[in-house]
Order: sequence, then structure tokens, then C-alpha cells
Amino acid sequence: MAGASGPLTRTMPMPPSPGGVPMAAMVSSRLQPMSLLPRAMVPQAARQRQVTIRLSSWHRSCFFLPCCDQSPVAPRIIFPSIPRGGVMLDGYPIRSFLWRTVGRRGGRALLPHYQNLLLRHTLRHAQLHSPFYRRLFAERSIDPAQVRHTGDLHKLGFFTTASDLRHDPWAFLAVPRERIVYVMTSAGTTGKPKMIFLTRHDWNVVAADAAVGMRAFGITQSDVAQILYCYGEPGWMVGPLLQATFEHLGLLIVPAGNAAPIEQQIDMMRTYGTTVLAGTPSYLHRLTEEAQKLVDLHSLHVRMMFLGAEAWSEAFRAYLQKAWGARVFDSYGMTEIGLAGAGECGLQAGLHVMPNLIFEVIDPETGDSLPPGKEGELVVTTLGRQAMPLLRYRTGDIAALVPEERCPCGIPTPRITRIKGRSDDMVCLGTGENLYPEDLDRTLMGIPSISGYQLIIGKQGYKDTLSLQVETGSPSQELAQTILDRLYRSLGFLRHDVQQSQTIVAPTVEFVAPGGLRARSPIKVRKVVDRRPHAVHVEPEAGGAG
Ligand SMILES: [Zn+2]
Repeated sequence: MAGASGPLTRTMPMPPSPGGVPMAAMVSSRLQPMSLLPRAMVPQAARQRQVTIRLSSWHRSCFFLPCCDQSPVAPRIIFPSIPRGGVMLDGYPIRSFLWRTVGRRGGRALLPHYQNLLLRHTLRHAQLHSPFYRRLFAERSIDPAQVRHTGDLHKLGFFTTASDLRHDPWAFLAVPRERIVYVMTSAGTTGKPKMIFLTRHDWNVVAADAAVGMRAFGITQSDVAQILYCYGEPGWMVGPLLQATFEHLGLLIVPAGNAAPIEQQIDMMRTYGTTVLAGTPSYLHRLTEEAQKLVDLHSLHVRMMFLGAEAWSEAFRAYLQKAWGARVFDSYGMTEIGLAGAGECGLQAGLHVMPNLIFEVIDPETGDSLPPGKEGELVVTTLGRQAMPLLRYRTGDIAALVPEERCPCGIPTPRITRIKGRSDDMVCLGTGENLYPEDLDRTLMGIPSISGYQLIIGKQGYKDTLSLQVETGSPSQELAQTILDRLYRSLGFLRHDVQQSQTIVAPTVEFVAPGGLRARSPIKVRKVVDRRPHAVHVEPEAGGAG
């Protein structure tokens, strides 16, 4: 705003028309014309004088335009006023604006323009600075300028895959190395780990977006958040990211991790008055089973639980809600996108996507785009990422875009359905039956004393073998029989494939002491581990978000 004075400069309140943008814009004719906002959003007088809507450096750093540092004519937009009632977070008014204002007035209209603008800059940034994309664009004669809108992304005609990232992560780096502050990695027992680079700005943006989302979902400054994700694993950043997120919200943070004894976790909940728990489903399962032997969970003050990083079912949600008397929220993310991807609002009718991500859904076999409502593989494009822009990255996760555009909660971003599973979590058994981890949740949830499980699939000749590893403090023959009975009941194909087609060996149950599965893989427990020779996935896979 500084310097924007004189007769050719004025503050022009925008009319709060339906679909319009409720903001005032500072315009100056001394700047070069830029077509950053659609003409309809630029005041008529401004258009006539060919002026630019300006963005102060402070706002610009919030907005993040990758190339504007070098550009002789910085793209500028000014948001001097945020509509009354909008959620404000210090330093991040624009994101708050985008997330929250919208049900009432024009934020919904602004979102696509914001995303299209960022997309064009992201493509340009990738072409100029990312060796991988520069080569790809050149080899395929792709002109990224052809992609003007998020709906045009398919015109790029390629996908980025996990193997691209594993093969040479440095080829994706689009800033000098000294600007990296964090490297997130996904560990694997086979192949090279993926490495995801973030600048300080990238980290701040992810945490700020997650914070705005959390606030919109109902967390307030008076909450106390106990973080139950693994700390101390290099490259696994969910705990630190959640911490940064909660710092933005200014609430009391208890970085408890998942290594402390259950008694100590309960003690911390009591001491600090924890109201929010964030952790992996497998850890919360164990915590719930063991803690309820020590204390009436309803007597604690936990009112919200945020789960991420592993697939889980509605049956598990019901189990936790009943046990704790708290509302349980799903979140979605993965290391590749900086962990935070989407989260449920209070209505729990799908997960709102972060404003700096574009999700597409494709047919995993053909790569064709699928319309909202159709389930397929999620493909994600990161907007405005400095260190490592990713274009059309195949996540391997199965979900759909929610067809109804408007969520009554007012958050403007699109929604995805809950993740059905990773495409590599789904396994084919016996005569070609599909098994998802949540099928097992349905089977085992509600059996007292079970605090975790893992299905290990192997091969014996041509037959598949199923070994169910079950965590319990009270193993018995009766318990094993109950589990097997339930397994046969809930997997309709199992009896047929064991007895008639004889493609599966009769499943077995093995008991493990509480905490035993986590000891094998401290970050998170994969519910289905496929050890057959053709199995392709690696384990454990880091990913998920808080
Ligand atoms: Zn909503």
C-alpha cells in the first residue's frame, strides 16, 4: 500500500453482489497491467486505466507466487479488508478468508481464481526450475501456458509417479539446496525412500493451512492437544507438523508421542486437561483398550480426536466415539504433499481439501479422468510449492470427489470421500476376491481385549495363506475361535475359497502382546502385509497427516 497515493490511486469497495468478492481493492495506475484476476473482479475504473490490483509484500508472502521474486513486475493483489465475521489468524488472513468467509459472500467465487493463478505460476516455476519437469516438458513438447485453469490439468497428458520420486528426488528440487529446511522421507523395506523437500515458506504454508482448517473444524485456543504420533523417526514429520499447526492456533500442546506407557498418557491427559487427541488409529486402538481398564474414559475431558496416516473404518469411528464420548474426525494426507491434504468438517460429509492442492480422480487402469462421485485413484497437484512442485502425482489412494459442490459448513474448498484404501492396500485373494483393511475392522472391532491386529498374507504352493496377528493381553483358544468365526462370517468368499476352490489355506490366529505390532514398526502399523512374491508395496509406508 505504501507509495500507492496520489490522484490516480483510490480505495474502491467492491459491491457485495452474489458471486462477487467482498473486498476493497487498492489500485494504482503506475503499475503495469496484469491479468491476475478475471475482469469481472477488477473495478471498471481500474480496467479503463489499465491498472493493477496490488499485493503488499506481506500479503504476497502469504499468497506465495513462486516467480514473483524474480519478476520485474510483481503480481499484486491487495486485500485490505477481511469481511466481518471471517476467521483471522495472524499473518494468514487470505487463507482464513478463503477457508471461511465464503458461505455468506464471495469467497467461493474467489477460490477458483486464486487456484488458477497459483497453478499458472506453479507450472511456470516447474518449467523454469525443476529439472524433472523441465526435461519432461521439453521431451513431450508440452507448453504449460496451455493450462490456464485447474480443469485443464489433464491436458498435460502425464502423471508423476512414486517411482519417479524414488528414482531421483533431487531432480524435482526447484530451489537451491540451501533453501531447504526440512526433508520428509517415506521409509521402505524395498527400493529407495521418497524424499520430499520443503523450504521454510513451504513448511509455514502447510502448517498455516492446516491451522485454518483445524479452527474451521472447531478447535479453539482453549483446547489442549495431545499429539500421539511417533516422534524421533528422522523424516517422519507428522508430530512436528501438528505441533507447528497447533502453535498457529495458540493452544496448549502436549507432544506425548507414542512411546510413553499408557499410564503416563492418561496421567498427562489428567494433568493438562487434554481435550484433543491426534494419532494413528492403531495407536488409539491400543490406548483405548488399555486405558479403559485403568480409568473411565468419559471422565477425561477429551472431546475431539483427529486420526490420520492409516486407513480406518466407520466401525472404528463408532468404537472410539462410544469409548471416549468424543467426536472422531478423519484427515487425509501423505508425505509427498507435505502431509496435510484434507480434513473432515463438523458435518463429516467428506473431507475438505486444502486450498493449495488440486485433486483429480482417475481410472487407475486407463488414466482417464473420472467425474465427481466415481471412485478411482486420487491424483494431486501442489499449488505454490517452492522447493518441490508436484504435478498430477498418483497417490495410489482410492476415493471419489464429492459431487455436491457446496458444503453447508461454508468452507469453500472441494471435498473428497474418505479413503477406501490405498490401491496397494487392497489385495486380491483366492479366486480373485478383493480385500480391504476395513473389511478386517468390521470383523474384529468390538471384540473385548483386542488392541490391534495385522493380517500377513503369504503363499504356500498355489494357495494364499492368511495369518492374523492379534494384540491382546488375554490370549485363549476361545478368543482365537471367536476371531475365526467372525472372519468367516464377514468375508463371504473365505469359506468357499478354503473349502471348495481350495485357493486359500485355512486362516490362522497368532497372539502378540499389547504393543508388539508397534514395536515391529514404530511409525504406523500396516493392517495388511502382503508377503507373496508378486507383492509390490513396501512396508512400513510413511504418509498421512494430522
Ligand atoms: Zn464442510
